[in-house]
Amino acid sequence: MTRNKLQHIKLLAIDADDTLWDNQTHFDTAQDLYCKLLAPWADEQAIRNSLYKVECRNMPLTGYGTKAFILSMIENAIGMTDSKIPAEAIQKILDIGMDILNMSAKPFPGVRETLAELFNSGKYKIVCFTKGDAIEQEEKFMKSGLTDVFHDIYVTSDKDDKEFERLCFYNGVKPSEMVSIGNSFKSDIHPIVTLGGYGIHIPYKRMWQYEHTEEYQHDHVIQVRQFSDILNYL
Ligand SMILES: [Mg+2]
Repeated sequence: MTRNKLQHIKLLAIDADDTLWDNQTHFDTAQDLYCKLLAPWADEQAIRNSLYKVECRNMPLTGYGTKAFILSMIENAIGMTDSKIPAEAIQKILDIGMDILNMSAKPFPGVRETLAELFNSGKYKIVCFTKGDAIEQEEKFMKSGLTDVFHDIYVTSDKDDKEFERLCFYNGVKPSEMVSIGNSFKSDIHPIVTLGGYGIHIPYKRMWQYEHTEEYQHDHVIQVRQFSDILNYL
């Protein structure tokens, strides 16, 4: 994809977690601590597998985010310990989860400068488009210090083609007039491409199991190494 191909673009929809700031490391650390806590009752891989199953089963009711993750950790701990887990250990699980909620959301290097340049160019409406728990995502957005280089933020329960269509409708653009930028091919790239829009994929070193998907080449998709590389195309 060349820079010329994106000359007509009006809307940039930028993912938050693991695109603007690190998120997955906090969840991975939490899971490591959780496995250590439950080590007297089960082996690590069994705990991880079982927790993932519980998370997936709960997702239609609880959605994404840390609070949903905490509930799944507790439910799984009760199940894996045959209801023997002491209240002190449940408290530790809550503490592990609260540490994620208190994460710093410090932008990756180059993110602020890149967004400022795009924002000041006046060429685009720039929105943060993220799935998850509304309060949690908005809180991270505020903590990131990036609110002045975005026009708006949209938090949705999922990022599928219906949500991308809705985002376009709210902003008065066609899908072909927007670029979605993010780390997850499944959530940030595939849905917009199926609608005729464009995607800039910035893979991150860590990926939640749930986001794994088959990636493919497409003439509306470009992959870059770091956030500031998007300036080569916009
Ligand atoms: Mg992400």
